[in-house]
Amino acid sequence: MSCKVVLAQSISASYREELKNTIKSRNICPKLVGFLANDDPAAAKYAEWTAKTCAESGVEFELRKCSRNDLENKIVEANQDAGVNGIMVYYPVFGDRQDQYLQNVVDVSKDVEGLHHKYVYNMYHNIRFLDEAKTKKCIIPCTPLGLVKVMEYVGVYNGILPHGNRLHGRVVTIINRSEIVGRPLAALLANDGAKVYSVDINGIQEFHRGVGLKLMKHEVSETTLKVEDVLPLSDVVITGVPSPAYKVPSHLIRDGAVCINFSTFKNFDGDEIKKKAAIYVPAVGKVTVAMLERNLVRLYDYQAQDRATVA
Ligand code: NAD
Repeated sequence: MSCKVVLAQSISASYREELKNTIKSRNICPKLVGFLANDDPAAAKYAEWTAKTCAESGVEFELRKCSRNDLENKIVEANQDAGVNGIMVYYPVFGDRQDQYLQNVVDVSKDVEGLHHKYVYNMYHNIRFLDEAKTKKCIIPCTPLGLVKVMEYVGVYNGILPHGNRLHGRVVTIINRSEIVGRPLAALLANDGAKVYSVDINGIQEFHRGVGLKLMKHEVSETTLKVEDVLPLSDVVITGVPSPAYKVPSHLIRDGAVCINFSTFKNFDGDEIKKKAAIYVPAVGKVTVAMLERNLVRLYDYQAQDRATVA
């Protein structure tokens, strides 16, 4: 079998190394505060993992536990504390629209997860900078950004094309359209030039910038296509179905495709997919955490820039 299996660790290593060097050579210690206000063991595990990764890179990570009803005030406190550079919250907290409200309580200048409306709006509208002088890049949510980095690493992005168009000609299927990963990812990849088939439990939408990338930002259309129509057309298949029973039908995958799974469950049958795919990335979690730290250092620098402007 000629399939190359690429592990998240190899992809995250160069970002982590760069981060470690930046923090050490500049003698800085960015501080990230994580708020845990639920009893979800998966969130506690993720927090533990974030703490370990941050300690290795020289980032100060503090986990603050509180009740969900105290969370809003605790976030406001951290917003006002100049010693805190980044804030993240382990969702779900209330599991409804109140969580969306809390995402907007986090100050935009400290939002390492890129969940504030300003970042979300800019991402969907292909607005890449916060300022007119284009000195401050917008923060992109960590998992969709991590998946972009995975695709750059394995060579799906074409480096001879200009930035912003490097997926021109690529066809990507994403099986997941959640607000947290699948839909933002579809928008990011389409904004970068791909034709994206976005699959969810109810059907398939197409995200694209039109023939010759004539549109500045992606548009979305409903389709009547089925998974069996889009998989054979796809250069890249990305899956995030949160179920142990779900498996992508390997026989529909195009020979030589790139297959990437971000679900905690194995959405591809490992043995079967290796007979078809050119590249298989079974998990991406480590890249997500590397992006979290990368976003933090970026915010640290923007905050220093803002202080210098005020002074
Ligand atoms: P979610 O439940 O919000 O969304 C699941 C999506 O999959 C929905 O769009 C749903 O319609 C679609 N779906 C479900 N069954 C399907 C089917 N049979 N066919 C087609 N589409 C189907 O979940 P989520 O928050 O997006 O998380 C998904 C998975 O990704 C989970 O396993 C989660 O743990 C994992 N995750 C990983 C990372 C990471 O960094 N690795 C980050 C976030 C989430």
